[in-house]
Amino acid sequence: MQNIERYKELIKNTFIDYKSNSEFLKNPLIFEKAEGMYLWDINGKRYFDAIGGIYVTSLGHRPPRVIEAVKKQLDKITLAPPLHGISDITLEFMEKLMSVTPENLNYIKAYSGGSESIESAIKFARQYFKQTGHPQKYKFISNYLSYHGGTMATMSAGGNSSYKIKFEPQMPGFLKAMSPIQMRDRFSSWEETNRFCAQMFEDIIVNEMPETVAGVIIEPICNTGGIVTPTEEYFQILREICTRHNVMLIFDEVLTGFGKTGDMFAAETFNVTPDIICGGKGLSSGVVPMGAMMAKEELRESFNGNPEDDVHFSHGHTYAGNPVAAAAGLAVLNEITENNLLENVTKNGIYLKSKLEELKKYSVVREVRGKGTLLGVELVQDTKTMKPFPEGMKLGNALKETAAENGLIMRIAPDWFAVSPALIAEKEHIDEMCDLIEKSLKQAIDKIGGKL
Ligand code: PLP
Repeated sequence: MQNIERYKELIKNTFIDYKSNSEFLKNPLIFEKAEGMYLWDINGKRYFDAIGGIYVTSLGHRPPRVIEAVKKQLDKITLAPPLHGISDITLEFMEKLMSVTPENLNYIKAYSGGSESIESAIKFARQYFKQTGHPQKYKFISNYLSYHGGTMATMSAGGNSSYKIKFEPQMPGFLKAMSPIQMRDRFSSWEETNRFCAQMFEDIIVNEMPETVAGVIIEPICNTGGIVTPTEEYFQILREICTRHNVMLIFDEVLTGFGKTGDMFAAETFNVTPDIICGGKGLSSGVVPMGAMMAKEELRESFNGNPEDDVHFSHGHTYAGNPVAAAAGLAVLNEITENNLLENVTKNGIYLKSKLEELKKYSVVREVRGKGTLLGVELVQDTKTMKPFPEGMKLGNALKETAAENGLIMRIAPDWFAVSPALIAEKEHIDEMCDLIEKSLKQAIDKIGGKL
C-alpha cells in the first residue's frame, strides 16, 4: 500500500505512451515480473500477454536462451567504440541474420529499435540516389493509416493522423496513398480494391515525376489500420512499379518481422522481395532495445569508394550494433531456426484463426484478418449492415476495460483488436487466450448494452 502511493507520486513525473496520466493514475498498471506468456503486476495479479508487450516478445518474456546469451556477453564486451570498430558478436549476429533474410538483403546494420531502422532507411535511400546520379529523388510514398515510428521523419512517413496532428507541420517530401481498407467498400472485391490501391502508387509517382521519388515505405500488414492485410498481388504490383520507376521498395517489418506471419519475414509470406527491410521489436524478444536495416547487397557498391570520395553512409547511432543487443538478437534467431518456431506459428495460426472466426456468432465481428498468429478482429455494430459502432459507444473501448479486468493484454482500438502471441505458444496457450477473449468480448457487449 505504501509502495503504490509512492509509485503514484512517481508516475506523476512521467507518462505512459499515448495515455492520459490522470486516467492512468486512477488504476495504474505497474508490472513487476514476467515470464513466457505471462506478466504479473505489483499486486500479484497475473495477465496473459496476447500481444507480446506490443508485438515484441517473440520468444515470450525473459526467454532463457536470450537471457543466458546476454549474461555471457556482459562478461565480455558491452560497447565497441562505434567510430573505431565493431564487436565480434555483432558480426556473428549479422552472419546469422544474413542466413535468414530473403534473397540478397544482406547489407545489414543493427539499430536500437524500429524508428531508428526506418529513419536510417529513409536517409540511406536519399544518400544512395544522391550518389548514383539521381540527386532529386527524395520523396517517399506510404499509406494513410500506417505507422512507421515516432521520430520526425518516420512520423511524417506514417499516415495515421492521430499520431501526427499535434506535431504539425510534417516534414516535406512524404506523400500518401489510400490504404486498401479505406477503399474496400467502393469495390466489389478485396482483390479489385487492392489492385486499385497498388496502382495509386504509380499514379502518385508519375504525377510527382519519377525523378523526385526515392522510395515507397510500406508495412506488409498494417497494425494501426486494424491489421490491414493486402493481397499478394498488391505487393507484386508495388514491386513492379518501384522497379520500373527506379524507386526503392522499403518494407517496414518492425512489427511483422521475425516469424509472426509464419515466415521469417512477411515479404516471404507475400512472395515479394523489397529493396530494404527494416526490423525491430521481435528481434530481441524485448530483452534489449534492438532493430536492424537489411538492404539489397548491390546497394552497398555505391557506398564503397576511396576514403577521399567520402561515400560512406553518413549516419550513425551510439548504440547501433551494440554487442549486448547483438548477443540477444543472435540468440533469438538461433532459437527460431533451431526449434522450428515458424512451423509452430503456421500451425497455431490456422487454429487461432478458426477460434477467432467462431466469435462471429456474436454478430459484432466483421472480419478476422492477418497472417500466421498476427491476427486482427474487426468489430462492427451489426454484421448485416457492417456499420461501425457510433462514437461514444465503441465496443473496443468497453473491451479495453473488460480485458484488463480479466487479466488479458491485447492491442485494442475502438473498432478492432489484435493478438500476436509469442512464437513459442502452445495449443493450451491459444485456448486460454481465446477463452479470455471471448469472456471479455461478451462482457464488453453487455457493458455497452448490446444484445448477445
Ligand atoms: N514501424 C512499425 C510498423 C511499428 O509498429 C513501430 C512501433 O510500434 C515502429 C515502426 C517504430 O518502432 P519503435 O517503437 O521501436 O521505434
